[in-house]
Amino acid sequence: QYDVLIVGAGHGGAQAAVALRQNKFEGTIAIVGDEPELPYERPPLSKEYFSGEKSFERIMIRPAAFWADRNVEMLLGKRVTAVDPAAHQVTLSDGSTLSYGKLIWATGGAPRRLSCSGNDLPGVHGVRTREDADRMLAEMERTTNVVVIGGGYIGLEAAAVLSKFGKKVTVLEALDRVLARVAGEALSRFYEAEHRAHGVDVQLGAKVDCIVGEGRVTGVRMDDGTVIPADMVIVGIGIVPAVEPLVAAGAAGANGVDVDEYCRTSLPDIYAIGDCAMHSNAFADGARIRLESVQNANDQATTAAKHILGAAEPYHAVPWFWSNQYDLRLQTMGLSIGYDETIVRGDPANRSFSVVYLKNGKVLALDCVNAVKDYVQGKALVVGGHSPDKAALADPETPLKSL
Ligand code: FAD
Repeated sequence: QYDVLIVGAGHGGAQAAVALRQNKFEGTIAIVGDEPELPYERPPLSKEYFSGEKSFERIMIRPAAFWADRNVEMLLGKRVTAVDPAAHQVTLSDGSTLSYGKLIWATGGAPRRLSCSGNDLPGVHGVRTREDADRMLAEMERTTNVVVIGGGYIGLEAAAVLSKFGKKVTVLEALDRVLARVAGEALSRFYEAEHRAHGVDVQLGAKVDCIVGEGRVTGVRMDDGTVIPADMVIVGIGIVPAVEPLVAAGAAGANGVDVDEYCRTSLPDIYAIGDCAMHSNAFADGARIRLESVQNANDQATTAAKHILGAAEPYHAVPWFWSNQYDLRLQTMGLSIGYDETIVRGDPANRSFSVVYLKNGKVLALDCVNAVKDYVQGKALVVGGHSPDKAALADPETPLKSL
């Protein structure tokens, strides 16, 4: 029996344990994780770990001694397959059971797979775990042509690293611009041009028919019949939240698990946090969304921990995110969902600029490319929902903090 049992040894799970101990929780805590490793940072898997700039040790969330010192038991290489909310018990993949007082579900999601034929050929990869990254790295030497399916952040980051490795990279995006789901047109066109300038073949409106190869991938067939040669295919088309055991136990939710402002699910004593938690977000006008970011995983972990500790504070954290591609550091603040106007500050040609997203004149969000000052100073505009003078917003010489 554990006072708090955490399922998922990723960003959210690790931070939940950290927050409990930081706030003087003295009960027993265990984390069940299906990966073999102690919690590590996922963002570097398509960035500094993939490129070899950071070793695995450098992306661990905490060193091993940290968890031992704080009496956080790590049950790794085990998967929770069933939850019995009435009995306050979970079943693990080895058939054993564990009892809990409170359960925190922090399982993230699995990469969405293509549904076409060839989707499971060797050489076709998703990017979610260290194992995924290591498998791709092990194939690097024999790889010349890489096709990346999906022009979202993960696909583009992987493309940037691979082009640095000297691979011939093609990015296939089904929509008419990259980053279409997360950013405005100005940012999309900027990154499209950057990738092309680095020799990446970016194809928009691309319709994949299937993956071809015998025993191993050799190419991607498009709906017009052309085959793009590929020794490696990276599929970055989003995730499927890992919530089956909870939903099977009766938790409300469809795309993820529904949670309230304290990250409580509809089941007693069960919380859900991070990528798998469908919540109402104040920075999306209260819309119910899942946010796939380190910020959200960490802040929801703290929200759940505080509720367990009897010091409940509703979730109200400003969203932020980053992406590294080539020598470009993108930092985003707020959520651009529902914007009706964008203002570009600075000249993208200088490779340092920001895009401000507005709704009815109010600042919703900022995307800052190599513009850390705007990122830092823009936070107050997003949090306060301010409506600054637009000419001043558009003028990069006017500091955002003066608005
Ligand atoms: P995870 O960190 O995914 O942890 C969930 C863990 O639970 C996993 O280890 C999973 O295997 C395990 N698990 C699942 N089901 C079970 C089960 N039934 N039993 C036991 N264990 C289970 N975010 C940013 O903010 N900035 C970035 O630049 C950025 N880049 C990214 C790049 C990549 C390649 C990826 C994959 C993600 C990136 N993200 C980034 C997103 C960020 O990593 C996630 O939002 C974050 O990891 C979510 O934390 P989580 O705890 O919800 O899930």
